[in-house]
Amino acid sequence: MTIAGRPAVCESWIPVENPATAAVFGRAPLSSAADVKAAVAAASAAARMWSRSSVTDRSILLRACGEILHDHTEELAQLLTCEQGKPLREARDEVSLAADWFGHTADLSSHLEPTGEQAGITLERIPHGVVAAIAPSNYPIILAVVKLAPALLAGNTVVVKPSPLTPLSTLRMAELLTQRLPPGVINTVCGGAELGMALVTHPGVDMVSFTGSVSAGRTIAAAAGRGLRRVVLELGGNDACVVLPGADVTRIAPAVFAAATRNCGQFCAAIKRVYVSRAQATDLAAALAEACAAVTLGDGLDPATDLGPLVSKPQRERVTTLVAMAESAGGKAVSNCRPPDLSGHFFPPTVVSDLPPGTALETDEQFGPAIPVIAYDEVQEAVDLANASGYGLGGSVWGDSDTARPVAAALRCGTVWVNTHGELRHDVPFGGLRDSGVGVEYGYWGLLEYTRIKVLNTSHR
Ligand code: NAD
Repeated sequence: MTIAGRPAVCESWIPVENPATAAVFGRAPLSSAADVKAAVAAASAAARMWSRSSVTDRSILLRACGEILHDHTEELAQLLTCEQGKPLREARDEVSLAADWFGHTADLSSHLEPTGEQAGITLERIPHGVVAAIAPSNYPIILAVVKLAPALLAGNTVVVKPSPLTPLSTLRMAELLTQRLPPGVINTVCGGAELGMALVTHPGVDMVSFTGSVSAGRTIAAAAGRGLRRVVLELGGNDACVVLPGADVTRIAPAVFAAATRNCGQFCAAIKRVYVSRAQATDLAAALAEACAAVTLGDGLDPATDLGPLVSKPQRERVTTLVAMAESAGGKAVSNCRPPDLSGHFFPPTVVSDLPPGTALETDEQFGPAIPVIAYDEVQEAVDLANASGYGLGGSVWGDSDTARPVAAALRCGTVWVNTHGELRHDVPFGGLRDSGVGVEYGYWGLLEYTRIKVLNTSHR
């Protein structure tokens, strides 16, 4: 842990497992309630100076943060692969993206300048104070940085809590960032839901920025609501992909497969259910099954690996159960991909076709590489099924782009893609509707979430 710019002593530890081998390879501190208090106190103390520093000075330090991450890409990527399981080249990409994110965020500085006075009124964007940034296990580095960078630019200080499944890369990253930032501007604590709740409910926390599951998001929103804290919640998704009649299913199958299995399906905006016209359902399922067969599953440290393991044993059990339930309901599961000879939490990419609507594999977020294919008779039926979900993160429509546009307009979610899925950009806002979240991240819109507006009204009478 890093608290007030120094490594903090801890008394208990969390074993950290490599999901490719199921062996413990490291340990992370298990923070106590006293650590949370110390971290929030350090962040509050630093906020007095940091919030008054100029946005130009903060943007210079953000760029320095990006540089130090770039310099340590390999070290952080190795840690990330060992604790999360993703292929090393994807871990390197994640660290590089995070390093670049600091620069992209620094580029937004001008949006934080006060407006010029008009009729005696000046508008100023001020920080909330101390931000609790709680991150999930699937992209620990980038999903911490998309909170950290805008929070810091806006003048907040931060206490970061990574997932107890994937804490090490984040804790190391924070140690590195502390070499560039004043003490207390970034602090870390580590632990599970109970520790996270101690952070969320600490009276010194002014804003909670959370990425994770819907159930945890609800609990956090309720607790933060009692203290009237500002929240941003980036929650789970169950993104539908609607393939229009007449689409070239053989051509689109590799892209649909890639969007469903990215990060071994552990991506909030992965394709999680596929709707296809009845006449083309068999062909699409066959093309997706062919894509499964071409995948090499393995340890992320092995350069031959395309897909790593799921992050934990419970997660593998969850996906296994959802597929078994779908098969009991009449679905046909096909996976031609051989699991590796390793004792990790591998789940081979699997296509489940001939699936009646309404199974849990369709209605719940599987967060793994199991792709349900559901046939429809009318496009409106596919739209209704896509929208018959509490989730509202993303969705996509595939086929002729002119025909796709009105269908895209009818999908109820934060982002709809046409002939692609899951592409995210630093300068485009990202957030979910309904159960998928509150507020947005990324770009100018995401930056504003970390600010409040203050009005200076000067009388010239
Ligand atoms: P999770 O909800 O289990 O945990 C996320 C984080 O919240 C962890 O740090 C965890 O320790 C903490 N936490 C859990 N319960 C808490 C509580 N009651 N109080 C405080 N903290 C608590 O999620 P996960 O398994 O790590 O991540 C997967 C989920 O995250 C999926 O649902 C995925 O779709 C979602 N996700 C969403 C986005 C997005 O941008 N919308 C991005 C990535 C992941």
